[in-house]
Formats: sequence, C-alpha cells, structure tokens
Amino acid sequence: MNTHLWHPCTQMQHLESLPPLKIARGEGAWLIDTEGRRHLDAISSWWVNLFGHCNPRINAALIDQLGQIEHVMLAGCSHTPVLELSERLARLTGLDHAFYGSDGASAVEIALKMSFHTWKNAGRPQKTGFVSLKNSYHGETLGALSVTDVAIFRDTYAPLLRHTHQVASPDARQAQAGETAVDVARRAAADLEAWLQHNADTTAALIVEPLVQCAAGMAMHDPEYLRLARTLCDRYAVHLIADEIAVGFGRTGTLFACEQAGIRPDFICLSKGITGGYLPLACVLTTDAVYDGFYNADVRLGFLHSHSYTGNPLACRAALAVLDIFEAEEVLAQNRVKAAAFNRLLEPLRQHPRVRHFRNKGMIWAFDVADAAPGFARDFHSKARASGVLLRPIGNTVYFMPPYVVGEAEIALLAETCLNLLDQTSKSAAVPVITAAPAVP
Ligand SMILES: *Cc1c(COP(=O)(O)O)cnc(C)c1O
Repeated sequence: MNTHLWHPCTQMQHLESLPPLKIARGEGAWLIDTEGRRHLDAISSWWVNLFGHCNPRINAALIDQLGQIEHVMLAGCSHTPVLELSERLARLTGLDHAFYGSDGASAVEIALKMSFHTWKNAGRPQKTGFVSLKNSYHGETLGALSVTDVAIFRDTYAPLLRHTHQVASPDARQAQAGETAVDVARRAAADLEAWLQHNADTTAALIVEPLVQCAAGMAMHDPEYLRLARTLCDRYAVHLIADEIAVGFGRTGTLFACEQAGIRPDFICLSKGITGGYLPLACVLTTDAVYDGFYNADVRLGFLHSHSYTGNPLACRAALAVLDIFEAEEVLAQNRVKAAAFNRLLEPLRQHPRVRHFRNKGMIWAFDVADAAPGFARDFHSKARASGVLLRPIGNTVYFMPPYVVGEAEIALLAETCLNLLDQTSKSAAVPVITAAPAVP
C-alpha cells in the first residue's frame, strides 16, 4: 500500500484490511474504479456533490474560465465571477456581504472571529464566548473544533481548544411518549435560554447546524427550534451563526435550511455543495449591521483575515454554474417529486424490524439500526462496498445523501442492498475481524 498518502479521518492501519478505492472516473452518481467496477456514490463524496460527477454544465463553465483567469488574489483585486457570485448569494440569503474562505472549517473560523470582532468594535470586548449544540459538528481546525461536540474528533485535542458551552440538542429522536418534535425543540430552546440568562454578557454567538446535525448521525429537528433560537439571540444580544455547510444548497428541500423556519441568521456559513463538489470554496455572508461595524478609517477595526485562495475564480465559476442549474432545471421542485418517489421505494426499509427512527428531510434519509454490533459502521461500509454501494454509516446510523441526479433504479439498489445487509449484519452474524472502530462520518 502507498503510505505516502496519509488519508483524512482514517486510522491508516485499518487500510490493511480494507484498502481505499482507487477511483479513475466519475459519471453522474457513479464512481468507477481503476478496475472498471462501479460504485454508487450514495453520500455525495462526503456531502459535496450536487449534480453528479463530471457534470457537463459545470465542466463547460470551468473550461471557459480556464481560458480567462485561473486565480488572482482578492486583496486589491476582484473579478467578475466573485462579484457576480456575491451578488447572487446576497439575493438568495438576504445577507448582503460575502467574505470568502476555502473549506468549511475556514468559514466557521471566519464567522467566529467576525462575531467576536463585531462586539469588540461595538465596545463589548468581553463577549468572547461561543455556545453550540450537543453533538454539533463545525469542522476540525482549532476554532471550529472548539464548538464541535463529537468526542472522537475532539477529546484528543481538548487541551488545545477554547472552552465553549454546549446546550441541549433539539434532536427529535429524544421525544418521549406523547411528545412531538416541536415539544423537543421547545425543551431545547428552554435550555438555551437558561444559559443565555446568565452568560449572554460574555457570549458572542450561538452556532447551529439548521434542521439536520449531519455528523451527529443525521439528527433532525423541527424548524421551531430555529425560530426560538432567533428570538432568544435577539433578546439576549447574541449573534446567530447558521452553519449550512452541509445542509445548504437544497439538501433539506429548500435552498437553505433557515428558510423553513422563516429566519435570517446574522451569519451563514456555506461550503461543500457551493461548487457542486468540484473545488474548495467557502463563503460567510452577513448583515449590514455587522459589515457597518467594521467600516472605518482605522485599519485595526477592519476584518484583517485572509486565505491565499480566497474567492478563487475557478471555484466561483463552478458556484455560478451550480446556481444556474438550480434555476434552469427547477431542481428544488424536481427534488420534491423525486423524494416522494424515493420514499415509496424505501418503504420496505422503513418497515424492517431492525430499523428505528427512519427519517427524511429533503434529499437526506437516515435510520438507526437496532442490535448493531461493535464495528457496525465499518462492517456495513465494507459489505455495501462489495455490492457496489458507497455508504459510510455513522455509529449505528445508516444514511443516504445522494447527488440530486440519482434515479429510482439507484434508490432501489440502495434499498435492496441495505435490506440484505440488515439481515446479514445482526448481532450474532457480525464479523469479528473489525474491532470497535470510531464512529466516523
Ligand atoms: C463538513 C462540515 C464542516 C467542515 O467543512 P470542511 O470543508 O470539512 O472543513 C463544518 N460544518 C458542518 C456542518 C459540516 O458538515
């Protein structure tokens, strides 16, 4: 095995028993390996791909852009793709000012720093704290990891992290008998309020993953939580940061998840799907109020943050092509039709005796598996892989987040593969080779 390449989110020794797939080509929702085997990309290559691999429209936009300008620094320069993208994202989010980064984690760093700096510029430098939800995931750089609550990623680095506070998650699976998802949301909001009552003076922002806490295992909540969080953040003068890095660009059924709650956050973090899964790009959009707080003759009151590839023209062109596709192909409406058909195909899975909390939001499906043996996620992943389906369960949660170009035949294959595996991977039949592996997405 080639050990020059150190894989992300991987115990390299585990690759001895399951070497990585070597992908040669992509075609729509399919990946084709160097031996010509086809694999259904049911998780959109870590939630980034929207319109399939080698999408003709995005390819054409990039080829066109390559003939013009590949990159120019964004301090002291600008270019048409980044100007046009900023304008379009402003219109779509209702947040007028776009600041660019490279990956999701860099967007989270930007939002955290910008929030703190806004309060500092406003004469409230003691607002240095951040609050996030239990089981939240916001990325792996030190600032983003500080507001992340996933033990396997966080615990090792705990001595390096800022102290932050976690409030109750509105995860609807916590509903007691007779309770609705709205009840759970209200209970979680009460926990947030209890925290803010005593700590708002030292808190800069609340950061949330709207509607679906993806890395937590596709934990879904009612939009009521976001409405209440918005109200509380206003009441206690704390910013609301919406981390839509995973859920943005149609995953939850609307272009942005916050729309379903009818709220506007103070900051929205976008990445992953923004380029259709082509190139790294992140964007933080914010309000006039935040922007105006930095606008001054004094350079130190400005937001002196940068990444070398900020607003890369190729990435911005891919993002513009993505927005064009959403419009031209009425993607959100088409996805609603698709999701209804997919739910019918997945009905036998919902009915399976080992399936718990089968859930769907937009183009995301998930269920928890009862009697999952230790190592379930890796076992399920490797067996699905042998059937030509790329899945990476999180703990005992199996989920599908396919590119929007998938069809019914592909969803039927997913359902069939999972039904077979659920019958094979019960507690007693679990393969003992795999030792308790971390539940990584
Ligand atoms: C993936 C993700 C991030 C981090 O993005 P990277 O591009 O991997 O750095 C942050 N927040 C959420 C909600 C994510 O899903």
